[in-house]
Amino acid sequence: MKVIVVGGGIGGLWTALNFRRASVVVVAPEKSDGSTFRAQGGIAAALDPHDSPLLHYEDTLRAGGYFNDRKAAMVLTHYGPMVLNRLVQMGFRFSPKPHLEGGHSLPRIWNVGDETGKRLLLFLRDKVKDRVEWIKSRATSLLKERNRIVGVKIDNGKEITGDAVILATGGYAALWKRTTNPSENTGEGILMAALSGATLSDLEFMQFHPTVTLTDPPILLTEALRGSGGRIVNEDGEDIVNPLLPRDVVSRAIHRYLREGGRAFLDLERVNLERFPLAREVAQRFGLRVPIGPAAHYSIGGVRTDVWGRTDVVGLWAVGECADTGSHGANRLASNSLLEALVFGYRIAIDVEEDVSQWPEFSFLKILNLIYQEGNVDVKRIGEILHRWVGVERERDHLKEAIKQLEKLGGIGNLARGIAEAAFWRKDSRGAHFRKDHPSPSREFFGRLGVRFRIIR
Ligand SMILES: Cc1cc2nc3c(=O)[nH]c(=O)nc-3n(C[C@H](O)[C@H](O)[C@H](O)COP(=O)(O)OP(=O)(O)OC[C@H]3O[C@@H](n4cnc5c(N)ncnc54)[C@H](O)[C@@H]3O)c2cc1C
Repeated sequence: MKVIVVGGGIGGLWTALNFRRASVVVVAPEKSDGSTFRAQGGIAAALDPHDSPLLHYEDTLRAGGYFNDRKAAMVLTHYGPMVLNRLVQMGFRFSPKPHLEGGHSLPRIWNVGDETGKRLLLFLRDKVKDRVEWIKSRATSLLKERNRIVGVKIDNGKEITGDAVILATGGYAALWKRTTNPSENTGEGILMAALSGATLSDLEFMQFHPTVTLTDPPILLTEALRGSGGRIVNEDGEDIVNPLLPRDVVSRAIHRYLREGGRAFLDLERVNLERFPLAREVAQRFGLRVPIGPAAHYSIGGVRTDVWGRTDVVGLWAVGECADTGSHGANRLASNSLLEALVFGYRIAIDVEEDVSQWPEFSFLKILNLIYQEGNVDVKRIGEILHRWVGVERERDHLKEAIKQLEKLGGIGNLARGIAEAAFWRKDSRGAHFRKDHPSPSREFFGRLGVRFRIIR
């Protein structure tokens, strides 16, 4: 069996590593750090004897506004301890104690200081190097024959075929002007999947990280700093918001404060910066009160999958940030995303080799069928539109304007239009999606929106 994994972050490399018999080809560019390299806080898992996967499950549902797919959240939290132990058995070393992050009822974030992602990526690269063939290229499209994905086309035009394709191309937060993600994270793989017939979902849920420097490029200051005594204050040192509330609440409080003309800071006075080399560097530059604002951070939506990572297109699986397992609900609990890649990557390898699951037919509250527009792509222009009209707080007329502007852009502009259309459709507020004109959750919208794209020639 030959398996093609597209993407070289935690989702791709970890999944590749979990195959026992299949020969694995990884397709990812030479410089392919993705978001994984930047991940700081760590990985959430209920490993401590005082903790339990059920408590982690409850925290995950609470942060997700109870919009989570229950089965996926259950799998995520209950497989957590096992996959972390598996990493440790392979030789990965975490710091001895977990720390606390917003939304968690106990300290359960396993880390390597604030360099968890970097260490993990280097570890995984080393582990896969003798086990996979690595083609240093970008995939440009998926190959489909008789309704089945049979391979990928890469940027030199070559076609690579195999028995299964696993998409691990990361999220789309870099479509926004202010983002914590590397610029390549524009959701290219997600759009590729959509153009091969896969349904996307939860696109309207973009998580904005509240504590990001106002520099260009912006620097994320990890949530763990707030778990270790960091405060969010105004010019006079007064608290603006409880720093340990979920990210959407903290982001909105800061956004409103900034909108009113105020300034917001992360106050590091009470934090022991020994454990946080990056924050120490930032503090040397700005002092212990660092000016901050929210930035687009984590794509909750993506290619819809079941709990085995299967999409609704035969032959195609998705893992990591490009996938939408539904486990995060309307808002991702801090440090559940590296975990999601580990848990579902492990399960995908089993499913592909053993054929455990079946090709799913998802049920949605509504499906938006969008026509793919050919045309020019201007990512900078997309960034400005999303930043201005589809930001931390949204409203009807702004979303309409965004859609109108995005209709003029082709390529990845289609994905951005899908996001704006989804945010326009969801006339309520929950988790990361906040509508000023519909500020409360509504029963009528308690369900998922599927987004499909069609090319008309
Ligand atoms: C600053 C920052 C801090 C974070 N901190 C944490 C944290 O503490 N804990 C936590 O759980 N999560 C954290 N996250 C989120 C987490 O890092 C990501 O969700 C996770 O790393 C995503 O992994 P991935 O493998 O899905 O995608 P990525 O790591 O983004 O990797 C995507 C890969 O796909 C490749 N690729 C993209 N398009 C193509 C293509 N067309 N063809 C071939 N290859 C392609 C890229 O080159 C890259 O190798 C953080 C994110 C950021 C940005």
